[in-house]
Amino acid sequence: MSAPGAPRVQTVLGPVDPSTLGFTLPHEHTAIALWQIPNRWDYWELTRDEPIITIELAAFRDAGGSTLVDLTLPGVGRDPAWLVRLARASNLNLVMGCGWYREAYYPAEARIDRRSVEDLADELVREAGDGLAVAGLDAPVRPGIIGEIGTDKPWLSALEERVHRAAARASRQTGLAITTHAVMSDVGIAQLTVFDDEGADLSRVVIGHADSYPVLDHYLEIIRRGANLEFDFLGMSFTPQERLGEPRIVDLVLELLSRGHADRLFLSQDVCHNSQLRHYEGNGYTYLQDRFLPRLHDRGVSEAEIEQLTVANPRRILTIG
Ligand SMILES: [Zn+2]
Repeated sequence: MSAPGAPRVQTVLGPVDPSTLGFTLPHEHTAIALWQIPNRWDYWELTRDEPIITIELAAFRDAGGSTLVDLTLPGVGRDPAWLVRLARASNLNLVMGCGWYREAYYPAEARIDRRSVEDLADELVREAGDGLAVAGLDAPVRPGIIGEIGTDKPWLSALEERVHRAAARASRQTGLAITTHAVMSDVGIAQLTVFDDEGADLSRVVIGHADSYPVLDHYLEIIRRGANLEFDFLGMSFTPQERLGEPRIVDLVLELLSRGHADRLFLSQDVCHNSQLRHYEGNGYTYLQDRFLPRLHDRGVSEAEIEQLTVANPRRILTIG
């Protein structure tokens, strides 16, 4: 626990001293169901099977992990009680997100289409302050980051723009960082433009899924605007680019490091489907430790740089107050 008023990281079990975070995965899920929306006819899901996920998290801890950020939001399965149970069972710091994911997944009851930006921002600020009540728990569960919020397409829809504006205002009022979903395009720049327009501190913004759009100039523009980028599809194998594109991602990481941008880079695995679990012969939550970081090391990336990417950067973005 951290002293009142001191810089802190908000985990689902309460605030902790940022110095205790250790190795952190900044963009993961421990449960998510994407198939429960109209007009989606597959069955994309990360199982809500507590014994299986508990074993997967224990493997991450055994590999040296100590903190994991779960960015599942309302509408796709956010469950504070689930996170509390997993945090207790795994002895990991688990951080919960807040906000609304992307338009196709906005829950009807959130009424994003009928509420003002200010009203949406107020809800996030209230949640960050008051937390969510969980049956059987004395303390409410508070979010430690805003996100993942994002776009379905290479542009922001009208409703997504509303959510992005609300997130920016809530970030200003709460100090919480914002992390985004931005795939296969330069839409992260449009996200930053909206956040900037609302006066958000862009050094507190992480543009996610950057490895799905492997373009150096795009990365440099995110950095030029003062924000951060995240390679968080590491170890994924759903698409040919994910299966075969890692050498290029490694080259891009090295290029960004050589240009002095180690402080803006985040790494994660976005576990969001059963096939990614060890139980189903996937990589589990340990692809960075098992495979990716050794590859960076073999290419000459120093221990200090790896520590920066996996400990110091997540600690900076998660620290509030
Ligand atoms: Zn995402």
